[in-house]
Amino acid sequence: MNLSASDIHNLYQPSKCNLRVYLLAKGEPQAEQGDFSTMLMELGMRHESEYLETLGDYVQPEGNTLDEKWADTQRLVNELTPVIYQPVLIADAPPELGDHRVVGIPDLLLLQDGLYVIRDVKLARNVEGNRHPEILRQLSLYGWLFNQAFGVPAAGLQLLLGDSTVAMLPDDDGASAMNALSEVLQLGALPEEPYEPVGWSKCSDCAYKKRCWDRAIKDQDVAILPGVDQGFARYLREEKVDTVTQLLERYDVSTLAAAQRPWGQRMQKVGAKLAESVMAHARARITGEVQHLSPPQFPESPNYIVFDIEGMPGYLDDDEQAYLWGTQLYGEDGGDFTPALAGFHEGGDREGWFEFLDNCQAVFAAHGDLPILHWGSYEKTKINQYLDRYGDKRGIALRIRENLVDLLPITQHSFALPDPSYTLKLVELRAGYKRTMDEYGGNWAIVNYALALESDDEAIRKDVMNQIVKYNREDLEATWAVFEWLRSITAT
Ligand code: SF4
Repeated sequence: MNLSASDIHNLYQPSKCNLRVYLLAKGEPQAEQGDFSTMLMELGMRHESEYLETLGDYVQPEGNTLDEKWADTQRLVNELTPVIYQPVLIADAPPELGDHRVVGIPDLLLLQDGLYVIRDVKLARNVEGNRHPEILRQLSLYGWLFNQAFGVPAAGLQLLLGDSTVAMLPDDDGASAMNALSEVLQLGALPEEPYEPVGWSKCSDCAYKKRCWDRAIKDQDVAILPGVDQGFARYLREEKVDTVTQLLERYDVSTLAAAQRPWGQRMQKVGAKLAESVMAHARARITGEVQHLSPPQFPESPNYIVFDIEGMPGYLDDDEQAYLWGTQLYGEDGGDFTPALAGFHEGGDREGWFEFLDNCQAVFAAHGDLPILHWGSYEKTKINQYLDRYGDKRGIALRIRENLVDLLPITQHSFALPDPSYTLKLVELRAGYKRTMDEYGGNWAIVNYALALESDDEAIRKDVMNQIVKYNREDLEATWAVFEWLRSITAT
């Protein structure tokens, strides 16, 4: 069997998961790759080919099979070829991994001062800490393979990042890579499916999400409860508490609060606050009814601005641009939807920001200070970022920031919902809000905005932006619907 960098990738991406490795080893079918993953792949390939162009002439090993390409890679290295693209490196696995071969195809071997450095090209912009364990281990694998193949270590393990800077990675002579491959082999050889707690974020981009979540919900796995993280779920499992019902039967708030669950490298008491929340979520899940935790502190006002931003993530856009600032007045007076869009031309980003400030100023002028409702921390983060980037206009941005009301933490502290997550897209369903669009979501908007950015066709751009504006408007409607629903159930 060939062990490769892909095996390491599958262990860690899109999140560290033992079950994914097991399922892949057993040939369990995966869901088709979505538009967002396809877009990321295409961007990665473009980043790589743009970088290749800067290197001038390069040579790619020839051959129809891995072994032929490996033989040709050796020839190219022996001839001191300056730039080798997608070299194939093969070596026997160390004895502790068994009778396997290890295969690695780094992006580049670059000859520098008579020695080869290994350079991989990634979209990632930061590999500090534990952000990308798979990348560090993949480079570790390539470094080990190079040493095995040519009897000398590579002169350096390097990574060309998404912002075109080069990061130097430590060479541990394959230690971390071999540990990861050993884990992959052990997981693939398990006689039975290992238990793996689901997690809303953890599973969100995994091709087995539907499979795992359908089962977890059918089995009422404790991991579906908000507040029960991976370590907590494993702890409960060890205590023979597999299901939500068993949790309710075995614990009350005080016994759960006293339980010691893993927290990082140590054990820590669950604590009263989390225990109360988890038990309430368990009751909500079993009864299907919202549980009240504490009275919410909703701001009282005859009118409210509802606010939502669409923006690009940092790994796709250097500026992390907020390209749509959507606001609308709701309440007694009501008002029009006022989307402030960043234009595609130079200076468009700045114009979008100031148009947003103007839109809010117009509402302040008519109604004075009023709460600005939004869902999640993204809006505040963007306001701070744009204040730094372009500054304020007569103190409007500061006034907006002062009036922000994030409904997400208020909801989380006050209610236990019978849902696995507090994402707006789930909570709005409880509020009875129905969207009109078939396709929508944060990643959907990102893919479509990237499409608009790339297109020179004004008609396509307009059509795409109209769809995103409509999505943003429905986000505002949903936020308002949720707010009204939460107020109504608070009153009962
Ligand atoms: S859906 Fe979640 S639990 Fe299932 S394999 Fe993927 S990451 Fe693991």
